[in-house]
Amino acid sequence: MTKVNQNFLKLPGSYLFSEVARRISAYSAANPQAKIIKLSIGDVTRPLVPAVIEAMHKAVDEMGAEETFRGYGPEQGYDFLRDAIAEHDYKARGVDIAPDEIFVSDGAKSDCGNIGDIFGVDNVVAVCDPVYPVYVDTNAMAGRAGDYQEELGRWNKLVYMPCVEANGFSPEIPKEKADIIYLCFPNNPTGAVATRDQLKEWVDYANKNGSVILYDSAYKAFITEEDVPHTIYEIEGARTCAIEFRSYSKTAGFTGNRCAYTVVPKDLERDGAKINALWNRRQCTKFNGVPYVVQRGAAAIYTPEGKRQTQDVIDYYHANTKVIMDGLSKAGLSASGGVNAPYIWLKTPDNMGSWDFFDLLLDKANVACTPGAGFGPSGEGYVRLTAFGGAEATKEAVERIVKML
Ligand code: PLP
Repeated sequence: MTKVNQNFLKLPGSYLFSEVARRISAYSAANPQAKIIKLSIGDVTRPLVPAVIEAMHKAVDEMGAEETFRGYGPEQGYDFLRDAIAEHDYKARGVDIAPDEIFVSDGAKSDCGNIGDIFGVDNVVAVCDPVYPVYVDTNAMAGRAGDYQEELGRWNKLVYMPCVEANGFSPEIPKEKADIIYLCFPNNPTGAVATRDQLKEWVDYANKNGSVILYDSAYKAFITEEDVPHTIYEIEGARTCAIEFRSYSKTAGFTGNRCAYTVVPKDLERDGAKINALWNRRQCTKFNGVPYVVQRGAAAIYTPEGKRQTQDVIDYYHANTKVIMDGLSKAGLSASGGVNAPYIWLKTPDNMGSWDFFDLLLDKANVACTPGAGFGPSGEGYVRLTAFGGAEATKEAVERIVKML
């Protein structure tokens, strides 16, 4: 009889965001008059900018003419996009990343999950707590997480690095030796960022122990403070220990367009193998590239008008963050994040449980949030609010929260 991957059977019930959606739908069905505003969404709401649209229209026309039609593209991405990334996202920050160290893909979610293909099952994996659930679940699927302990909300083989108020929501080097370390800055869900010194500690640790850092920088576009590193490669020594994930989803409203990239430096070697070559082999075997039209759209954000227009959208979301932060502070609530991220990490009042506060907010203010406990045990007592909504709706949601409290 066919055997299934037993690791899938160990996964706990539902994915966090499905449970949030389920509760919102159930509430709406029972209260059809309620006008729910979702500050829970991790999806963008502003449309693609004109520079992207124009580039994509042009690319569609090329696909419609015999002389300019393109079939399969390079699995690693077209040169025009890889060159633009190397130039604008790295060289402009004083960082040398060669185009053949950049792998264009259909999403940071896929890459964060797929990267596990090239690493052995017996590596010790360290994750932040709270954490973007994809890192945990994909390691669980691969058999690297062990067994799920329902009562603790943890996997017994994973190393959890608590990110709590006491450490400024920044993970500390674990006591256990970790082979693969997931870091995400600006962070989802806390909105925290790492300083240069903090990242240097991680880089030194990884080089000393032969570990690999998987650095998710999907929210890099939201950094506003001057001294916050934009890429881990700004840190000396990172080329020999870190892989970086980037995404156009939040940077340029590409959640429905699907385009991202992963940087695997050629200096990164482990277990006698060049990691860049392994990832290239994996991608060539299992991936056939991002659509030409989409890659043309992504490249357009590096033009002067594209840069200006995408920055305007980021500023729009940042204005929402400010509205939320100001409102919460007016209501006497304690919140962090927001400054370099589209996420606000709100401490629930009176030590309420995350899901209790979620239900209260939904019922009394008709505002949806994401319960912190869903991102890991250390998220208990927090909820995540996002700045991805429309400006008017965000303002109204905040007014309702202030009034409720
Ligand atoms: N990484 C983090 C930390 C995220 O929060 C998200 C999306 O929510 C992703 C990656 C997914 O990015 P993409 O849309 O490129 O798959």
